[in-house]
Amino acid sequence: MAQTHYEQVAQVESYEVHLRKKSRRGKQIQDMRDADVHELWERIQKIGRNDPCWCNSREKYKRCHLNRSQEEPLRSYEYIKVMRKFFDKGYCLHPEAGPTACIGPIVRAHTVSKSGSLNRIARDGHVYSFSSAQNLSKGELIAPSLIGVRHASTFTGFCKRHDNITFEPIERYPFLSSPQQAFLLGYRTLCHELFIKKASVELVFPYQRRNLDRGKSVQEQIMIQYQIHYLDQGSTIGLRDLVHYKSAYDKALLAQDFSNIFYYVIRLSNTPDFLCSAPHMPDSDFEGNVLQNIADTSIVVDHLTFSLIATGSGGAIVFSWHGKSDAAEQLVKSLHSLPDQALPHAIVRFTFEYFENVFVSPKWWEELNDPARQRLLQRQWAGLPSTGHIPECLLDDGLQVVNWTVVSRETNLSLL
Ligand SMILES: [Zn+2]
Ligand SMILES: [Zn+2]
Repeated sequence: MAQTHYEQVAQVESYEVHLRKKSRRGKQIQDMRDADVHELWERIQKIGRNDPCWCNSREKYKRCHLNRSQEEPLRSYEYIKVMRKFFDKGYCLHPEAGPTACIGPIVRAHTVSKSGSLNRIARDGHVYSFSSAQNLSKGELIAPSLIGVRHASTFTGFCKRHDNITFEPIERYPFLSSPQQAFLLGYRTLCHELFIKKASVELVFPYQRRNLDRGKSVQEQIMIQYQIHYLDQGSTIGLRDLVHYKSAYDKALLAQDFSNIFYYVIRLSNTPDFLCSAPHMPDSDFEGNVLQNIADTSIVVDHLTFSLIATGSGGAIVFSWHGKSDAAEQLVKSLHSLPDQALPHAIVRFTFEYFENVFVSPKWWEELNDPARQRLLQRQWAGLPSTGHIPECLLDDGLQVVNWTVVSRETNLSLL
């Protein structure tokens, strides 16, 4: 099924925004930027035709940036076509993937379940996507766009057989807060993140380095190359962490051993007005305490995964992680200390502050008042490297835009 042009653009923008948001771990490097740019500018003035190019491409200057400013500028349709190709490159992420184990085509897997969840909040088969909520080049906040549920949050990271056998317990059965189901929700979103990061590091950044600054002035070339460099570094570190986590998840999956899975589930009597599924590096908790320094690139930071799903009887907010994690535990503890009536609003703050893999009921979004919508868009903006999150970002800001009722809290941590 072909996508509309609009959906394609939305998807491309989503990766761009995604990469920028996820490059927070490269932020330290960014602080050096001004001095670097100046130094580089001086160096370019003296560079010889046969010297290695200043952009670190390992090409000679004459074959790389010498005539870049005279090249044909990159057209957006050309860019979109290439990005589509990169992110549609299908392969199977199952730990046993291989020519004999994989059966059937690579499928378009949803990180937020389509039949179980997205269809419940869609209007005429569409939901709002925040992935394109920012016009970064202009630095403006713009409205999110409607996308077809068929394309919402999909990735081509599993063959048909492995998708079926791996995710059957969450696709075909009611969510019962079993460690296995909590694990699988987390596993799928980790795989999605890894899929995007891998395509970015291996395909997108090399392409961008060669093409994004065609026809631009030397100053612009420097800025663009630096931008790509930061994003690349952040993504490379992120990918390293994800590979580390996925290998632990793979072992649990193969052994069907979920004894190291921790989960915290909040059940709602209502279908949530928006849905989300994403990995998270907890940097601060719901009380404003700092949990870990995610800018420290010398360590593998603690992760957890977060899912907001629709269920047969309403909805569920699911936090899960594999192995002991002080940061994850502390985040959940600070959430757990909130009374029932405060929990849904805390989840609104958390979702909009940290994630762009969010899909929103058109009815709910359109019925919000304008200040509320602006506040949520500002939170979507907050994760960018230029702004970042403040430790107090999850404290109560008085915004109450959902009326979900908490039914129960379920966990295998010793909190209750
Ligand atoms: Zn170059
Ligand atoms: Zn497979």
